[in-house]
Order: sequence, then structure tokens, then C-alpha cells
Amino acid sequence: MATPLQTSNTIDFNSARLSLSKAQQTPPSESVREDYSERRYRMASSLQTTLDIEQLLQLFLAEIKPSVELDGLQYINENQRLQSVTGRKASHSCGYRLITANDHLGEIVFYRNTRFSDQNLQAIEVMLSALICPLRNALSYREAVMASLSDPLTGAGNRIALNNALEREINLASRFKQPLSILVMDIDRFKHVNDTFGHSAGDAVIKHLVAIINKINRNTDLTFRYGGDEIVILLNRTNADGALVIAERLRKSFDTQQLQFGDDLIHTTVSIGLTAFSEQDSAETMFTRADKALYLIKSEGGNKVIGL
Ligand code: GH3
Ligand code: MG
Repeated sequence: MATPLQTSNTIDFNSARLSLSKAQQTPPSESVREDYSERRYRMASSLQTTLDIEQLLQLFLAEIKPSVELDGLQYINENQRLQSVTGRKASHSCGYRLITANDHLGEIVFYRNTRFSDQNLQAIEVMLSALICPLRNALSYREAVMASLSDPLTGAGNRIALNNALEREINLASRFKQPLSILVMDIDRFKHVNDTFGHSAGDAVIKHLVAIINKINRNTDLTFRYGGDEIVILLNRTNADGALVIAERLRKSFDTQQLQFGDDLIHTTVSIGLTAFSEQDSAETMFTRADKALYLIKSEGGNKVIGL
């Protein structure tokens, strides 16, 4: 049975120190260098055609394959909470941390079913240098897109992200006949928190609510701050009964976990209106129904869950 080869290297592209691997000790011959530099040039032009990370990695794998037989690669970027596998994993691997003077561009691990030779590692390391610039551009682009879709206070999605996600989830639910539910929640008497403890305390209460949601909810990507103290959660593959259980769990957690803000202990509650997708629903009808449920709770004094 083949034992996995785990080589973990760091490439500091800024100081042109190429890897800590054994390949470093055997510089490529003149003809190999020329060959690589031509492929690298071709690869650089190809990689510049996309700003999409997944597509970029697919192109990179396709371009590197004629030089080094590979089954797949994995890319990990913890700062951007990114982890993707292109192709497939195999028993032998070699990994690189991609570092420049100004940034850490993540880690990339290459996979194949036979050992990597020194010459394979040389080729990979030369090709990797062609990935740096397009990868940095793609990461910056992704960061900008993410920022434009998220709420800076809580890190949850914003209203634009909600509109996009609701349309997408409704399409999926309709096409694959899967259940989908929506929770629309609003903090009770939130103005009173602002008036009594100050605006920063109000901000902290909103963050506290989203933190509780993130702890309970399995898919934090589907939590959105719709406005001031109003949060919306999409629950895909969840019917009305399941949504009711989750909503009640959230309501109870918020009710029982007071927020320590400086010397103050702040107790707040939340009202949650919910509804499940039905075949004739649009994003608008679904949202309006959940909002109507929320309105009903508010008229009954809040701190409740109602499904319509
Ligand atoms: P209800 O129980 O009916 O929900 O009453 P409420 O006092 O919570 O009132 P409502 O939800 O209508 O008002 C929300 C308030 O939230 C109004 C606004 O002053 C405040 N607000 C909006 N955005 C922010 C924010 O980012 N931070 C803070 N601290 N307050 C905000
Ligand atoms: Mg409110």
C-alpha cells in the first residue's frame, strides 16, 4: 500500500526563494528551464482570463497536467473561509503555502497516486509562480463582492444578498421539490434598549442575536440583516414543522441569554414570523406572509413564534 507523502513547503515569491523542497537543491537544466518558462508564459495568459477562483483553479490544473501528471488539487484560504477541491484527492500529496511580501494567499496541495519526483516538484514550483498574480486578483475581487453583500456590523448577508439568495433558494426548492422555510425576526422594544443603554449597546444586542443564530443554525451563509433590528433566516430543505422547532430554539436562547454590556446586563426578546414555501410562491409572497406573521406577534406583545 502506498504511504502518503506529505511535503509541506512555503514559497516566498517576493524574495524568490522557491520552496523548501528537495527540488531546490537541484536547479533545472537549461533546456528544462526554457521549456518551463514557455509553459509558464502560456499559462499566465490563460489564467488571466478569469476572476472566479474555482474556474481559475480548474484552468491551473488543466495547464499544469501536461507537465506533471496530477489527479487533483486542494486550495485552502482560511482568511476568506475558502476550501475547494479541483479534480480528486489521491494517496501522494505535496503542499505549498503561498506567501508574498504583503499577503498570505493561502495553501495549495497537489495530489496524485505516485510519488512526486524532484523534477515534478521543480515544474510545479515554476508553474505556481504564474498563479500568484491571477490568484491575488481573484481573491481581491471575491473580497470586494463579499463586502458588497454583507452587513459590516454582524457579518451576516445584507438585503441585496437576501434578495439573491431567496430567488436562488426558491428556484432550487421548486426544481428539486425540496422544502424551504423563511424566518423573519425582529427584536422586541429595541428602541427602549437604545434609549436606556445607548446606541452602542443596541449594536451589541444585534451582534449578540446573530452570534446566537450562528451557534444554532447549521448554515450561517443563509442569515441576513434585513434592516435595523430585523434578521431573516432561510432554512433550505426544512419544512414548516422543522422551521418551527428551530425558530422556537432561537427565541428561547435569546430570551435566556442576557448580554453583559459593560456594567449592564441587558435582557431582550425576539419575535419570529415564519412560513414555508408552497409551489405558487414567489420571493415576494413568501416574505410578505412571514412578515404578516411577525406583525401578528407584535400585536400580541412579542416574544413568540407564529407560522402562517
Ligand atoms: P417592536 O417591539 O415593535 O419591534 O419595537 P422596536 O422598539 O424594536 O421598534 P422597531 O423594531 O420598529 O425599531 C427598530 C429601531 O432600531 C429603530 C432604530 O432607532 C433602531 N436601529 C436601526 N438600526 C440600528 C443600528 O444599526 N443600531 C442600533 N443601535 N439601532 C438601530
Ligand atoms: Mg423591533
